[in-house]
Amino acid sequence: MPRPAALLAATLVVPALLVGAWAWIGLGGRIERLEQDEQRRATEVLTERHALLVTKLRAEQDHMTVLSLDERGRVLGPFAEDPPAGAAVGFERSAAARIGLELEARGQGVEALPFLEAAAMAGTEDATQRLARARALLAAGRGEAALTALEDPTPLPDGDPLPWATRRLWLEIHVLAELGRTSEAQGLRTRAHCFDLRLPLRAAEAFELVCAAQLGPARAPIDKERFLTTVRGATLLEAVPIPTERQLVEVPGGGLLLRLAQDRFLVVPQGVLRAQLRYAVGPGDGWEVRTSDEASGGDDAARLAVPGLGADLVAVPDGTPESALLSGLGRGLLWLALLVFGAGNLLVWRTLRREERLARLRSDFVDLVSHELRTPLTALSLKAEMLAHGEVPPAKVPEYQLGLLAEVRRLSGLVASVLDFARLEKGRARLERRRVAARSLVAEGLREARPALELGGQRLEVDAPRELPEVEVDVELLARALCNLIENAAKYAPAGSTIRVTAGVVDGRLRLAVADEGPGIPRAERDRIFEPFARGRAHAAIPGTGLGLALVRQAVEAHGGTIAVEDRLPHGARFVVELPTGAAA
Ligand code: ADP
Repeated sequence: MPRPAALLAATLVVPALLVGAWAWIGLGGRIERLEQDEQRRATEVLTERHALLVTKLRAEQDHMTVLSLDERGRVLGPFAEDPPAGAAVGFERSAAARIGLELEARGQGVEALPFLEAAAMAGTEDATQRLARARALLAAGRGEAALTALEDPTPLPDGDPLPWATRRLWLEIHVLAELGRTSEAQGLRTRAHCFDLRLPLRAAEAFELVCAAQLGPARAPIDKERFLTTVRGATLLEAVPIPTERQLVEVPGGGLLLRLAQDRFLVVPQGVLRAQLRYAVGPGDGWEVRTSDEASGGDDAARLAVPGLGADLVAVPDGTPESALLSGLGRGLLWLALLVFGAGNLLVWRTLRREERLARLRSDFVDLVSHELRTPLTALSLKAEMLAHGEVPPAKVPEYQLGLLAEVRRLSGLVASVLDFARLEKGRARLERRRVAARSLVAEGLREARPALELGGQRLEVDAPRELPEVEVDVELLARALCNLIENAAKYAPAGSTIRVTAGVVDGRLRLAVADEGPGIPRAERDRIFEPFARGRAHAAIPGTGLGLALVRQAVEAHGGTIAVEDRLPHGARFVVELPTGAAA
């Protein structure tokens, strides 16, 4: 018969491992695919939200500052108009105009005025001439007329690094300040900041410096804010990478830059951005999109950086993601499989062991019947036949009769042992407990063992103190067990040696020990000898069934006790039985 462990490995463990590995690989792959799907979906949702955010920002651009670039890539003021179309370049200037310009440039405004007025009358006045005429009018103390000149609607050429409209505005503010019309000048200044200013950065700063010199610091905080936003935006356009269309670029110090068209940019302040973002990242299907400072997205949450926010967009699954469910399920299944396999293996192993034990018992029992029963029975029937047929000399008849009696007693003892063993082995034995003094239990065992002791010719020493407690036990069963131990000592120890039986209480348990001066029990055999039908290798020649110690162990264990064997020095064996002394014992 193959060993149970080997059988178990072949039939259960190997397939179990294979199935486990298969499930692990299959499930792992599926979870990975699901996780990838989730990540992709989250990124899609985020990208969608991000696009929505950008669209919202475009739609709400009234609240924001728009910067434009001129054809040289310079930043123009907020809400700048396109330069006047079809502006003529390189037109003829009249001689009067040239003289007027020259005089005015030298600071001789009063002298220049008639020439410049003549040129204006001729209808050939350009922007430079008109500005010079206005300055000349101012110099001549005709401020009002200077203002009228500046209001002239005639389309004028551009191409000056400082757009004419700006120069005009500047001059207009200057004239108004000269005329003492400060509030009008302030109004124009504000308008310049908010709407009409089309200046490169340095010019814008210079403009504000001039205004500040004439009018004092800018008054209205909102206008100044816008002005600063513009200036900052301009600085940024120089400092940050130019975004591609529909792309947001972070503005150091707060806000975002959004490219609306080739030459138009939106400066979005931080506060507006946050409000827009909150609006744009509402719940998605199966996903919630939040900013990372609103949501503590785990490591596996998808993220999309939104510059300027100081936070990312994070997509977190709305509820438990499928992959988490599946991996939980997978783990659960795996544990269950392990549990089932473990329990199954244990069960099979126990069954196989039991089968093996029963098979061994059966074959040992056959051996027993053939040797221990048949041989004496043959001798018995031979002797009985000789007696019956009068073949025994009369003088020997009593001896034959006594021999017959002894053999019959031995056989019936053997049969009783086998029956006892079968009863105890099946767990059917009902203990007939009686409360007795432990000393009487010892005395009963000794009484039963007396014939064996007499046969063996050993000396007996007993140490059983009077103060031993009472125990509640099946006296017959335990006395027979004690007797078995003493009989073994008598059987295996030499004649004339001493057998010592002691009884005492150790740690609240009754301890009975039988020690002899025989050959002792080799360590390798100490566990085996308590098995039914197991016999010591050295004692094959001595008659025995191998049932004695098995019976002793069964009887002791049925009472909740233990039995062990140890060396008795210098030689010999010592069997120690421990029994509980409590009420249940
Ligand atoms: P049996 O005595 O019929 O062989 P047991 O179950 O009583 O069966 O004992 C099992 C084996 O244990 C014996 O065959 C013997 O080898 C060993 N044994 C038991 N008692 C002693 C002892 N007191 N000294 C030496 N060996 C012993």
